[in-house]
Amino acid sequence: MRVGSPRETKTNEHRVGLTPAAAGEYVAHGHTVLIETGAGLGAGFTDADYQKAGARIAPDAAAVFADSDMIVKVKELQPAEFALLKPDHILFAYLHLAPDPEQTKALLASGCAAIAYETVTDANGGLPLLAPMSEVAGRIAVFSAAETLLKHKGGMGLLFCGVPGVAPARVLVLGGGVVGLNAARMAVGLGAEVVVLERSIPRMRHIDEVTGGRVITRYSSLHAIEEELPRADVVIGAVLTPGAEAPTLVRRDQLASMKKDSVLIDVAIDQGGCFETSRPTTHDDPTYMVDGVSHYCVGNMPGAVPRTSSEALNNATLPYGLALADRGLDALRADPHLAHGLNVLKGEITHPAVGKALGLSW
Ligand code: NAD
Repeated sequence: MRVGSPRETKTNEHRVGLTPAAAGEYVAHGHTVLIETGAGLGAGFTDADYQKAGARIAPDAAAVFADSDMIVKVKELQPAEFALLKPDHILFAYLHLAPDPEQTKALLASGCAAIAYETVTDANGGLPLLAPMSEVAGRIAVFSAAETLLKHKGGMGLLFCGVPGVAPARVLVLGGGVVGLNAARMAVGLGAEVVVLERSIPRMRHIDEVTGGRVITRYSSLHAIEEELPRADVVIGAVLTPGAEAPTLVRRDQLASMKKDSVLIDVAIDQGGCFETSRPTTHDDPTYMVDGVSHYCVGNMPGAVPRTSSEALNNATLPYGLALADRGLDALRADPHLAHGLNVLKGEITHPAVGKALGLSW
């Protein structure tokens, strides 16, 4: 199969759909790989790196789309790319079609097969192609918190890890899923005191086991949140209710109970945020103050580390991409979890949640 990856054109998107290592794997499977010139530069990969891996370099996106059977991207198609899709294309990328009727219309009109990273599932009910970005975001949350506590960043002037004789930061993590566990492990590794509030008892058992009991877990009740907020120097919001907006776990009036210049990191901001006072921010200007509490609400945290994020994403997407390249759409028959990724096929919406969100009857 001919597998192509164009340069990402969404604002501030520096990740790349195929790393040179992934391109080399496709080539080893006997496929032809076509990369748009400069596609990997934002993530630190040159055209020469791709050529060394056996890929060919195309002058522009139009050439990639014209000469490929499968397009592997990071983000959803941008309007300038709509007209480049052909009926026999397989598109493999994050698509997020539910809130995006314009892109959905373009995919339907093209006749292509569109497979969305975010709806591919695994045997445990997880979302394996979303998880690597949650791992990155959970870890970045701790770096960002440590930085926001610094005096010259407007913080309370607390050293995250403390020193002998002086207590470290106390970190409260709301939600112990992929983001929450990664944040908790990172924070405890840096010497912080960490409490995770969760609703799932099996998940709390897991956190307890993998952290050797170094992270305190508590059932996430309103009472527990009220009790923990005044003790925390940092609160990391990492809850998810699948398919719904994030629940509001901290109201504005509760900020008054918090320490002055403490820090809220709302990782769940991409689902609307779990603090009443959250609003989306960017890496250029990540924080703002409300009632003496600093808020960090960056919606694309993995965008800060496109090299790590591209490699982590490719590690996760590669086996599915190779299956599609090796077997075409037959790969979907062989793997029901990959089949859950199919959102659009030959002018029809094939994913119930996408159809429902777009007002179609299912
Ligand atoms: P996940 O499903 O692995 O974990 C969510 C956890 O929240 C689950 O364990 C669930 O039991 C728990 N939970 C639900 N309601 C709760 C409540 N009321 N109190 C305490 N815990 C509760 O999800 P994830 O992959 O960890 O993602 C978490 C959030 O981070 C999502 O909104 C995701 O979209 C977001 N995210 C944001 C970025 C970013 O750049 N800002 C990057 C990656 C993920």
